[in-house]
Amino acid sequence: TDLSHIRNFSIIAHIDHGKSTLADRLIHLCGGLSDREMQAQVLDNMDIERERGITIKSQTVRLKYTAKNGETYQLNLMDTPGHVDFAYEVSRSLAACEGSLLVVDSTQGVEAQTLANVYQAIENDHEIIPVLNKADLPAAEPDRIQQQIEDVIGIDASGAVLVSAKTGLNCEEVLESIVTTLPAPTGNKDNPLQALIVDSWYDPYLGVMILVRIVDGSLKRGMKVSFMNTETDHLIDQVGCFSPKMEKLAELNPGEVGYFTAAIKSVADAAVGDTVTETKKPASEPLDGFKPSTPVVWCGLFPVDAADFEDLREALGKLHLNDASFHFEPESSAALGFGFRCGFLGLLHLEIIQERLEREYDLDLITTSPSVVYRMHMNDGEVITLHNPADMPDVTKIDRIEEPWIKATIMVPDEYLGPVLQLCTDRRGEQMELTYVGSRAMAVYRLPLNEIVFDFYDRLKSCSRGYASFDYEVDEYREGDLVRIQILVNAEPVDALAFMAHRSQSEGRGRQVCSRLKDLIPRQLFKIPIQAAIGGKVIARETISAMRKDVTAKCYGGDISRKKKLLEKQKKGKKKMRQFGKVEIPQTAFIAALKMG
Ligand code: GDP
Ligand code: MG
Repeated sequence: TDLSHIRNFSIIAHIDHGKSTLADRLIHLCGGLSDREMQAQVLDNMDIERERGITIKSQTVRLKYTAKNGETYQLNLMDTPGHVDFAYEVSRSLAACEGSLLVVDSTQGVEAQTLANVYQAIENDHEIIPVLNKADLPAAEPDRIQQQIEDVIGIDASGAVLVSAKTGLNCEEVLESIVTTLPAPTGNKDNPLQALIVDSWYDPYLGVMILVRIVDGSLKRGMKVSFMNTETDHLIDQVGCFSPKMEKLAELNPGEVGYFTAAIKSVADAAVGDTVTETKKPASEPLDGFKPSTPVVWCGLFPVDAADFEDLREALGKLHLNDASFHFEPESSAALGFGFRCGFLGLLHLEIIQERLEREYDLDLITTSPSVVYRMHMNDGEVITLHNPADMPDVTKIDRIEEPWIKATIMVPDEYLGPVLQLCTDRRGEQMELTYVGSRAMAVYRLPLNEIVFDFYDRLKSCSRGYASFDYEVDEYREGDLVRIQILVNAEPVDALAFMAHRSQSEGRGRQVCSRLKDLIPRQLFKIPIQAAIGGKVIARETISAMRKDVTAKCYGGDISRKKKLLEKQKKGKKKMRQFGKVEIPQTAFIAALKMG
């Protein structure tokens, strides 16, 4: 296809505004799917995605559309991952397109995620087509939402298309609008090859598959290519596209989007954002914007049953095959034994991996307190990155500590604004902006990431009755008065319970954890002191008093079988405990103790 007949676009939307439904509808209209296949949402693959309504891995589809002018066009629909932790992957998908469909539910209006995505699209110079969805619903207010898009986002919404992705109403107009209003890509087939890696994933039959957008040159089977940022060479063995079924092609040309395979073993070797060029005729420079993915949230994952350690290692390895953005390395903890220190792009990413391990691999896990990555500037000038509070260096050798901050956008109906602002203040937030759009407020805050990793989403949802929407991007590192709080049980520090906090909050948090542990750790035969300490200084203390009698004591003289039963029950209970020094700590205590209240 010549360049003037190609259009590359993505769909951006807040969760549940109808992105997947519209995508399926467009595929159906272009003959890519039968009625029966339409039943299932094709673009969302995994169970978890479907249940949670988020897209984790993107899928891209090439459509053939014959427009009203009689010409046939190649439309490449790039699906983007649908949640906040994958901002970089979203930005690369957007960089591979010339325009976006901005889908807004016309019964709901603009939300935080709509905004975050649309700003990225604008940064990538996209032409934007507003699509007002769910026109079939009586509560739809297309005029108001159209005005809102102009007011809040500041783009011209006069060309907005009012559709129902569900019934198909007006969806053909969306395709027309793509052809008439989005620009065609540019590029030159005779220039050296430059292709942007937009996504990569592991296919059990074909190995690693790489999705690319060709900028210049062409990509063919048998060609030797180099990845310019990671500096590796590969031989292309298959080239093709998805329509949405996989189709082999002879070559991919400028402006086009498609996949290739090259006997690559791990997705980590095909980094999103890297540039593919031809080894014997390389481009002079890679494309802009390459950023190796770095985990921002870390936690320990330990098998409940120590015998599952090897299974856990294998499961983590398998998940890593398909998700290079998640990291893991062996770790051992005095309290929890052998496990792994794992790094994630964000909290939701952590939850998804944890859920998949439990669901798909049937593993019972203990998760330790999530921690962000701190930068320790040492007195001798060395900078240490710390992602496990247990590894905190000697404080007398630390000059200063920096922590990551985020920029958060929160949208909330007016009546819940008060508690939301209070929550942000409690979490050390700094207000950047507060504006109103009708009866909704938009607050932009800077917040330390460490204050949101635990339960910020939950709190935000509960204090706004589920109406607040939230989006964030990692902003910058800033110095903070941070301390490590150690928890001592029976005078011994429990490394898996150590956590970092701002000094101003350390006492309150320390006290809270001690009092939680007091309730979580069962009484034992002796008195157990529980302390929170910074360095050698105890800042909070609780005591679990001793159990008065042996459990069997109460059946003195009673029948022996009852006594046996009690002992057995006690033994079973023990399985879910971890021996620590003389004290047994139930597994559930590790995470429960650290939840902020
Ligand atoms: P996504 O999260 O943006 O991908 O949203 P989905 O496409 O999964 O849609 C979310 C929900 O809205 C689903 O229950 C859809 O059936 C429903 N939905 C999508 N489009 C329409 C529409 O035009 N009208 C109505 N009534 N419901 C819709
Ligand atoms: Mg979806």
